[in-house]
Amino acid sequence: MSVLDLARPEIRAMQPYSSARMEASDGQIWLNANESSWLPEGDAGVGCNRYPEPQPSALIDTLAELYGVHREQLLVGRGSDEAIDLLVRAFCRAGQDAILIQPPTFGMYSVCARIQNAHVVEVALKSDFTLDVDALLAAVTPAVKLVFICTPNNPTGQIVPRADIERLAQTLSGRALLIVDEAYIEFSDADSAIELIDRHENLAVLRTLSKAWALAGARIGSLLASAEVIALLRRIMAPYPLPLPCVAAALSALSTVGQQSAREHLAVIREQRDVMQKALVRLAGVREVLPSHANFVAVRFDDPGAAYQRLLAAGIVVRDVRRYPNLDDALRITIGTPQENARVLDVLKASALQEARA
Ligand code: PMP
Repeated sequence: MSVLDLARPEIRAMQPYSSARMEASDGQIWLNANESSWLPEGDAGVGCNRYPEPQPSALIDTLAELYGVHREQLLVGRGSDEAIDLLVRAFCRAGQDAILIQPPTFGMYSVCARIQNAHVVEVALKSDFTLDVDALLAAVTPAVKLVFICTPNNPTGQIVPRADIERLAQTLSGRALLIVDEAYIEFSDADSAIELIDRHENLAVLRTLSKAWALAGARIGSLLASAEVIALLRRIMAPYPLPLPCVAAALSALSTVGQQSAREHLAVIREQRDVMQKALVRLAGVREVLPSHANFVAVRFDDPGAAYQRLLAAGIVVRDVRRYPNLDDALRITIGTPQENARVLDVLKASALQEARA
């Protein structure tokens, strides 16, 4: 059995759109795509009058080297959000198939499933927010085509051990595609699951330039998977997903200088995460700081609503995660610059003092 047998048969059978850019790549005079032959005002050599390459070769080469995969095992899209959406659309038949997730986790998996009218099977993380592999496997019905694992998990920050990922990939072989979302892995010491792709054709890994690479605004995310899965998703992807200025921003962030700067910021974030974890846990009104391997910490408060409002009144916006199961007293705070983090602590300290006086 091939992993493609899990995909929607009509997607495998359909004739994909063939764009002008795909059909011809050589030439001096370009009159095949109804583009303008003039540069737009302020273009500064970017060439935005032309459609971009569907999968820009310079970016694909750079990312393939960064992630240690072959070009055919890589799909670049508008953030890893787009890859999640493509996976759900390619593998789940509306009204019939399902995805499996472990709440509390990143919200886009179930949003994409609901848009596709795919069912969402939920297997809660354990009370310490680690993965319950046995419960997960017991919940996999024939309808489940995609199993999403988020490591480090958003919004809790825990990682899934490599042995669990391997066991899941092995056990789900021929039954479901296992998708390991590593959006925050650069902030942890964990090894990536990418190197398992060659051994497990039903394993796919999501990576993004939005976090450690400081490029959330450029919307560049990758899916690493078997060449068959990548080719399948390209059939349903928009013809020109990656705007030229975004590709240029990504190449610059991934240059030698860019890599150096990303490494420096990564070290600051990891060090600051430690500082914040230690300082937050000592504050009056803080019940618990969940151990995190990502660039955020989930913090339990006696009165999370008041903490949120106090921070907001000081101009600091954090994420209210109280709607997630087992997190009804928690806020998620991203690790910022040392100055930003110090400000968070000052505001929370001041409000704890006020409450003590009241
Ligand atoms: N996965 C996880 C776990 C995330 O937290 C996010 C963004 N918050 C994404 C994927 C999507 O990231 P992007 O689309 O920016 O690559």
